[in-house]
Amino acid sequence: MTHPIARTQEEWTQALSARGERAFVAKQVFGWIQKRGVLDPARMSNLSAKVREALVAEGVGEILTTENVHRSADGTKKAVLRLHDGATIETVLLPSVSGRGSAAAEELDADSAAAEDDDEDEEAEPIAPGVVRVTQCISTQVGCAMGCVFCASGVAGLKRHLGAEEIVAQVLVGRAMLEGTEQLRNVVFMGMGEPLHNYDATARAVRLLTHPEGIGLSSRRVTVSTSGLVPEIERLGKEFAGQVALAVSLHAADDATRSAMMPINRKYPIAELMAALRDYPMPKRRRITIEYTLVAGKNDSPEHAHRLAALLRGLRVKVNLIPMNPISASDLGPTQHGRVLAFQSVMTDAGYSCFVRRRRGDDVAAACGQLALLGAKPKVKGFRKAEEA
Ligand code: SAH
Ligand code: SF4
Repeated sequence: MTHPIARTQEEWTQALSARGERAFVAKQVFGWIQKRGVLDPARMSNLSAKVREALVAEGVGEILTTENVHRSADGTKKAVLRLHDGATIETVLLPSVSGRGSAAAEELDADSAAAEDDDEDEEAEPIAPGVVRVTQCISTQVGCAMGCVFCASGVAGLKRHLGAEEIVAQVLVGRAMLEGTEQLRNVVFMGMGEPLHNYDATARAVRLLTHPEGIGLSSRRVTVSTSGLVPEIERLGKEFAGQVALAVSLHAADDATRSAMMPINRKYPIAELMAALRDYPMPKRRRITIEYTLVAGKNDSPEHAHRLAALLRGLRVKVNLIPMNPISASDLGPTQHGRVLAFQSVMTDAGYSCFVRRRRGDDVAAACGQLALLGAKPKVKGFRKAEEA
């Protein structure tokens, strides 16, 4: 059942009209929750006492508490959030400098998140100088069932799915953490968990985040990242008509290499995944983001790069290379910088937009793949290595 905090405005209208309330009350309630991020009915000051009591009876209230905020030296912030059942999840805020034309801004653009803007979006929507654009990375599950060998969430296994209300509440908390001239601009489903394994909650969260009366993010600035669940990619494409950005964690261009890194590849091998990407409905000038985590000695040779270039031929993609962030559960490690650049040159020479994502937030274990299950075992102070906690 949908938690009331994850109700759409239309669902609020239904629920409250059943209690004899008028439609504008539903609009007010939706606005308090989704626009202002107020979850405690006692603080919804323009509602009648009767409505506030009804909301409490329905279960509206705080659903997570911020346990800790860790600040990285590079400006990345990681919030550790505790859920009602004691489980913890993490969300990461990645600020980047705005303003086009400067080399620094371009560099940050390229590595702040897999889903950074397509160029034409920037032209259509100039940002005032001085504004700091923030990308928020959110989790969709406690742990993950996919078992990718290089990922702390995967090594941990799946504890449970998050509800849409828990996914959206991360963004409400994230927004409240913005400072100074920061603006929340992108939300990427790249935290802990496989969003498409938790399809319904993910899809509802996307609808809520992009609702014009709520947080109101542009759908092209909401990116769902997947390890390649083919039927759900097709479903997402159909249900949103391509109006949600897609990132695909590919990591290898041949089945043997990919299956050794990502067990899901045995279920949905590369040919099926590519067919789904070719069919994904794409608005003009949009591209699918291909994520490629470079793991030393596994998928990072020039031959691997040539294979990738050949595989992606004809697809509208941009490629993000992510040198693997070390995790304590594995001896696998990052590709050395020279080889990363060599891999990138093969891709750019083949005509692809290909960026290297700088490692961010790893001093607070907030970098890709380092978000791990906390809570069950004793915590390590400072979360220097959260996956050990
Ligand atoms: N489950 C989804 C989204 C969460 S993972 C997916 O796999 O796409 C987000 C990204 O982080 C993925 O591209 C994933 O491959 C990458 N990642 C996981 N572990 C990593 C690590 N140790 N170092 C670098 N990137 C990693
Ligand atoms: Fe799950 Fe993504 Fe990690 Fe793979 S990389 S285990 S799909 S969170």
